Amino acid sequence: MARVTVWNEYRHEREREDVAAVYPDGIHAAIADPLAAAGHDVRTATLDEGPEHGLTDAVLADTDVLLWWGHAAHDEVRDAVVDRVHERVLDGMGLIALHSAHYSKVFKRLMGTSCSLRWREAGERERLWVVEPGHPIADGIDEYVELTETEMYGERFDVPQPDALVFTSWFEGGEVCRSGCTYRRGSGRVFYFRPGHETYPIYYDDDVRRVLRNAVAWANPGEGPTPDFGNADPIEDLDATSPDDRTTY
Ligand code: ZN
Repeated sequence: MARVTVWNEYRHEREREDVAAVYPDGIHAAIADPLAAAGHDVRTATLDEGPEHGLTDAVLADTDVLLWWGHAAHDEVRDAVVDRVHERVLDGMGLIALHSAHYSKVFKRLMGTSCSLRWREAGERERLWVVEPGHPIADGIDEYVELTETEMYGERFDVPQPDALVFTSWFEGGEVCRSGCTYRRGSGRVFYFRPGHETYPIYYDDDVRRVLRNAVAWANPGEGPTPDFGNADPIEDLDATSPDDRTTY
């Protein structure tokens, strides 16, 4: 089980009735509740929770996997917080960037590209195809998941080539999108997952929730070594193996 923090911008739900009707307790609650029910130790944090947006050093130090949902206020996330999250990912914390978090400061920094894409809000059908069936993030998912009403995100999605492409979406309007991409950055694991617009009840979908559970398990840091960077004392006795002492055959 993992210590999970679900971060949400949490503006749309408070400002727009149509969004509040879908996510009355906030998108973060719809994401956090099933993860807590699965046994994870889950907390939430939001943009307006103080100057550090609820992501203090202590919270991040106590987080194995951070899920990030942001949309209209990416620019309001303070750079000092972005620095801190970035550093924690390099240090091993898992990051799951959801839907419009493709444009979040921290995801763009981790990718090093524009992360731009094409989009259309027309409530169209999406088939989310599993294209890497052996990947743990796809455990228990059928060949594809059908979402009846989604916002279209289409290629080119300007991200680096993923380590694994787990999902590819087809949209009713004709576009495709690399919708489930894994990366490693430093010691941390990063997963981008496309579904999840604020006016559609996508985070209540059983398959979407299963993917998020799988992704948290995948992104949870393992017991790998902590790298020791910097000037290093030799492990072997260098004098004994110096070139002058070696026998030449
Ligand atoms: Zn959206």
